[in-house]
This record gives sequence, structure tokens and C-alpha cells, in this order.
Amino acid sequence: APKEEQHHFSAEVERLMDLVVHALYSEREIFLRELIANSADAMDRRRFEALTNESCALPATPQIRLTINKEARLLTISDDGVGMSKEEIIQNLGTIARSGTRAFEKELKDAKPEDRPNLIGQFGVGFYSAFMVADKVEVISRRAGTEDSWSWTSEGKGQYTIAATTRETAGTTIILHIKSDADEYLEGMRLENIIRKWADHIAWPITIKQGEEEKNANAGTALWRKSRSEITDEQLEDFYRHITHLFDKPLATLLWHAEGVFEFTSLLFIPGMISPFEPVDQERKSKVRLHVRRMFITDEAEMLPAWLRFIQGIVDTEDLPLNVSREMLQNTPVLARIRKALTNRVMSELNKLSEDTEKYEKFWNLFGAIFKEGLWENGEHSESILKLSRFYSSTQEGFTTLPDYVSRMKENQEAIYYLAGDSKDILASSPQLEGFKAQEIEVLLFTDAVDAFWPDRVGKYADKPLRSITQAKEDLEKLMGDVEHVNSEEEEGLLKSLKEILADKVTEVRTTQRLVDSPVILAASAGGPDLQMQRLMRRNDK
Ligand code: ADP
Ligand code: MG
Repeated sequence: APKEEQHHFSAEVERLMDLVVHALYSEREIFLRELIANSADAMDRRRFEALTNESCALPATPQIRLTINKEARLLTISDDGVGMSKEEIIQNLGTIARSGTRAFEKELKDAKPEDRPNLIGQFGVGFYSAFMVADKVEVISRRAGTEDSWSWTSEGKGQYTIAATTRETAGTTIILHIKSDADEYLEGMRLENIIRKWADHIAWPITIKQGEEEKNANAGTALWRKSRSEITDEQLEDFYRHITHLFDKPLATLLWHAEGVFEFTSLLFIPGMISPFEPVDQERKSKVRLHVRRMFITDEAEMLPAWLRFIQGIVDTEDLPLNVSREMLQNTPVLARIRKALTNRVMSELNKLSEDTEKYEKFWNLFGAIFKEGLWENGEHSESILKLSRFYSSTQEGFTTLPDYVSRMKENQEAIYYLAGDSKDILASSPQLEGFKAQEIEVLLFTDAVDAFWPDRVGKYADKPLRSITQAKEDLEKLMGDVEHVNSEEEEGLLKSLKEILADKVTEVRTTQRLVDSPVILAASAGGPDLQMQRLMRRNDK
């Protein structure tokens, strides 16, 4: 008899399985999407490993095969993917790597029923959805490049069994023992419909075999290869949710078939929300996927600059060989040109989007802070980024822009003034503003952490220097005209004792004409960092 090992699920997995199976009962069909997505991922990974390791090469006609055996009540999903070693099986199917049960539970509870299926993919608990339709699940897997095969068997009740087995080729087979109330998943037509709905865009062929009959179930035409008029809004939104793991609708979509010197297609999205579980700042890198002739290659080619990392989607090119190496990905001028063209195109799309105030402000609230990171490079896009940036202002309702600010500047005003801090409300009531308010000079209110860094780097907009009002004592004096003030004897005495008391805390204590209501104010010295920058620097010291 084969040697079997009993294992117990971690407590977290057990609880998650319970949640997935019960909370999503009304959406059971998505188990198939999840299992097919896992197979497709595994085949993508095998292709990529094969680039550097011949023993992982894919078979001649790789595919995902569904087989129905009605009499035995079995649905089998078999792939030619990278497979799993024994350790990987235990790690991937017995513990939860990515997410917390609590967070998942809470999200599930808060989500609208129609959003729930998408939460599963997002939390990386897709595999367990198999237990919604099966009372027993067997996994038989052989890691590409190895000789051993292993089986994993579980009824989903606290434990699973691992045993050595044989699988002729590398890949994974999942055998579902279909529950008595889930007959529909033994019907070829039903499975076909689910695939058409959820997995049509999967680039690997998916076949369904029932008895002697075998048919192809997915169109496999990569969605982005079609023209916009051939794609329904619904397909586009499904695809968006598939690649972003989000559950809303995209804020903006760009389908672009670039032709000419080099050919590529891109389908990019600005999401309508921030993922609570895969924050864009986890890695400060663009994760736009690179495909070559439809085949997924990698999501690490940094197809867009980091400051556009909120944009998600895919780029598919004809101009690279299918067996592109990692090294080539880093050095090829083809990718450099695509990156450049893509960045320019995204910028012009943002320009277009900015004409729709409501959408653009939504975009800005979600991703403006990341976008402004591009100013730090002070490169060719700085001017456009500045124009596309939105700011609060001491004199305007809502957002304003730099061009609008400049058009409102006073005749004798030399600089664009700003005050940086943590929130609009705190800034709006800051004593720093008093002198400027009195002179009716508009001050931009910068509220993102990144705003403490870029103004010095960029220096100016439309030839007007950007200046923090915490460093603009002389400007204000100039604007106020000749208000000669000679300190009285009492004032001099007060300054002297304040200087003694604050000895090593300040460089200077002086009288000022810029305050209207407040008695004292902290100012930054003109040459040094502005006040908000000093605050951030202190915060980082801790
Ligand atoms: P996710 O796919 O989001 O990581 P899943 O619960 O769907 O979460 O799958 C867990 C893990 O199990 C996957 O990340 C993968 O490592 C492994 N896995 C699942 N199905 C397969 C498969 N068909 N081939 C290879 N590995 C798989
Ligand atoms: Mg998965």
C-alpha cells in the first residue's frame, strides 16, 4: 500500500475554507474560474521557467483539459503547468501565505453579494472554492523538471493526505468529486457557459471532454487583439477585474494598437479604486504585464515609470522573440521604445481625462500623490505633470491648477506661493497665511507628503519660481511696500530675552509685519529646508 501522510490544515485555512464555502454559496460557479486561472498561471510560469531551464519545456500542444465523468460524478481539470513539488503542495494548499482571515471576513461581510466572487481571487484563496461544489478534492501534481509526483487528497474537514503517485508528465490534475446538489457542473453545456463568461480571454486552449466528445471551450483570442467595436463593455470590465483583482469598474480604459516602426497593442486601465490588499505602494514599480504574440511573459518588465504604477493592464508586442531572455528584457531597445511611446500616450490620455472634471478629480484623489512623484525625476514630463496636477488653494473652492493660479497672479507678484502641511483644513487656518491673505495673494495648499520634496527639485512653473511662504519673508515685505518698522526699545528687549530662552532652538527672533491676528509665528530660514520638509525629516529620525 502507498505510504500516506496525514496533515492538518492551519487553523486559518480551515476558517477560510468555511468562509469561502458558505459566504459564496450562491456564486458557486466561480470555482471553475479560479481553478482555470490557477492552471493558466501555472502554464505561464512554466513557459517563463523554460526560457532558462530546458527541462521545463512545455509539450507541443499545451492545454487545460476538463473531463466529465457523469457516472463516477467526477470533474477533472488537468493542465501542463509548472506543477508542484511535495513541499510546494503543502505550502500552497495547506497554509495561507498572503492574507489574513479577519480582513477577508470583514471584506466579505461588507461587500455587496455581486462583488463577493471577486474577493476570492483577490485574497488568493481561489483553490478552496473547489469545496463549494466537491465533497472531496484530489490534486495530482508533478513539478516540471523533476521525476516525482504527489497526490493531495482532502474532504475539506480539517485534514488532508499526501502520498506518492505517478503522473506521466509535468503539470497538475484536480479531481473534483461533485456534491449531490451540484449536478449542473457535470453538464458540458453549463461548463462551456461558465468558461465563456469568466475565462474566454485565457490565452491557453481550454477543452472539455465528455465521453468521446471533445470540444474547444474558449475563444482564446486575446481580448486586446480585437478592435474596440468588437469588444463589449462587459467583456472589457470582466477583463479589468480579472487582471486587477479589483471588483469595481475602471475609471478609464485605453485600448491602443500601435502601428508603424514597431508594432504593439496595449490595453490599460486606470482603476476606480485602490486595492485594500495589494496596495500600489507594496512595490514602487509598474506591474503592467508584458506579452509577446499573446503569450504572457512577465509583469516585471516595468513597462511604465514608477509614478504611473497605478495604471494596470497589458502590452503585447510582435517585436520580441517568444523565447526572450531575462537579460534581453532588461536591455532591448525595443522595450525602451515601447515604454517611451506608452508613457507619452498615457500622458495624453490623462490630458483628455482632465476635461471631465468629475472623473479627473476622482482619479486625482486616488492617485495624484503617486503621479506627482514623477516631478522628482524633473525629466521630460515634468511640465505636463505640473499642468495635470491639482491643488487646494487659499482663495479657491475645490481644486485649482498651476495655469489657473498663474493667470490670477497679482501684477507685482514674482513667485508661485505654497504652504505644505498635512491637511487642507489645518493649512487654511495657519497663521503663516495671514500676511498673504491681507495682501490678497493666493497661496497653494500642498497636502501630500511628496509635496515637501518636488518644489525644490522642479524650481519653477511658467518661469515663475515656486516658493514656500515659510521662506518668503522678503517677498511679503516687498509686496507690502514700504512699511518701515524700527523696533522700539521694549521690542528689542523682548527679542533679546526670547533669544536667550530659545537659545539653541532657533537661529533668529525678529519682529514681523506679516501677521494680522496671531502674535507669533515659526519661519524657516530662506536657504534651508521649508518647514514641512523639516517636520518630515524629524518624523523620519524617530
Ligand atoms: P492564488 O492563485 O491567488 O495564489 P489559490 O488559492 O488559487 O491562490 O492557489 C494557491 C496556490 O496554489 C497558487 O498560488 C499556486 O502556487 C498553487 N496552485 C494552485 N493551483 C495550481 C496549479 N494548477 N498548478 C500549479 N500550482 C497551483
Ligand atoms: Mg488562484
